Amino acid sequence: MNPKPNIQNLLEKESFSHDELVTLLSVDKAEQELIFEKASQVKQNTVGNKVYLRGLVEYSNICTKNCLYCGVRSGNKNIRRYRLTENEVLEAAQFVLDHHFGSMVIQGGELSSTQNTRRIGQLVTKIKQLSQGKIGITLSMGEQSRETYRYWFECGAHRYLLRIETSNPDLYKKIHPMDTFHSFEKRLQALDDLRNEGFQVGTGVMIGLPFQTNDDLANDLEFFKNFDIDMIGMGPYIEHKNTPLYQYKDLLLPPLDRFYLSLKMLALLRITMPDINIAATTALQSIDKLGREKAIKIGANVIMPNITPGRYRDDYLLYQNKPCTDENADDCKTCLEARIALAENEIAYGEWGDSKHYGTRDKGQGTSEDR
Ligand code: SAM
Ligand code: SF4
Repeated sequence: MNPKPNIQNLLEKESFSHDELVTLLSVDKAEQELIFEKASQVKQNTVGNKVYLRGLVEYSNICTKNCLYCGVRSGNKNIRRYRLTENEVLEAAQFVLDHHFGSMVIQGGELSSTQNTRRIGQLVTKIKQLSQGKIGITLSMGEQSRETYRYWFECGAHRYLLRIETSNPDLYKKIHPMDTFHSFEKRLQALDDLRNEGFQVGTGVMIGLPFQTNDDLANDLEFFKNFDIDMIGMGPYIEHKNTPLYQYKDLLLPPLDRFYLSLKMLALLRITMPDINIAATTALQSIDKLGREKAIKIGANVIMPNITPGRYRDDYLLYQNKPCTDENADDCKTCLEARIALAENEIAYGEWGDSKHYGTRDKGQGTSEDR
């Protein structure tokens, strides 16, 4: 029998083998503190204790996709569908400007109509005009054609979030409908296209999915590294009763275990990819009220306060217990400042907060197969 590896010694290394990652993901509560301490040090020495804000606008819950885990999937007939008006988005942009957030994220269901493409392009252009270029814009509108990505980039968006959800193609098939519309290969292609169009590319996974193993999660960390990704947003999978994946709820880890597994993933990511941007996601907060601040302490450096007009928040329920559905944007900002200070970090107001990694990585064209 192999002797139990010494976690402290393992953490002295700068990179880990696949088996070492699995070992680190499997450690108990006492040993996980060692990982958190190490990640916290790495963060201090690389990206420092600055936290960048991105005002999150949940633009629309109208989606043509039917992902088996998501509350806004097209098959869920129990929600009211909405799309923000142009004015509502521009008011949110004005809020970002007035409160010196530096950046905003526009996120929504996946639509590929020409009308939608134009609408998003026009919004990006108008936000750039309104802010005289001061607001950095991240889009998260799912898989689109390369031409659409190019058009949105030309309009002024420069970062894009598209989670791979899981790097295991078999697991991907289990959490999406079995059709060509929900294809792992297409998602990989979309990530390549985004990169080749010049975007800073963000991806991520859900942690604690039914059928997911620590082996899968270690592969996810290796996928991020091999893809040389600029930013990551990942957090716990949270079940939603009006989705097909809910039938497997008995296979899930208890929420707190999913939470700590997510923190371990995040800490290991900071150790293995020290200069990327890592978001402290809302799903962490839905399990632990201070979840995002705990993530900041051990490696994350981006927070996305929700600035969607309050009356739409209950309609963007990706999962149950999603927080902040009844707060207005001001409340969120005020309490956030104090909580980030508690995590011994400070908000970097008025900065775009681009991924340091993007500044240094090779920008040559390539595909995921080359890497
Ligand atoms: N439609 C775009 C897309 O899929 O990329 C952007 C919006 S989508 C709602 C953003 C992310 O929400 C997805 O990438 C997925 O990881 C996450 N999400 C959806 N359902 C979730 C759930 N039940 N638990 C945790 N995260 C979830
Ligand atoms: Fe639509 Fe995104 Fe939800 Fe999938 S995860 S159903 S693409 S909003």
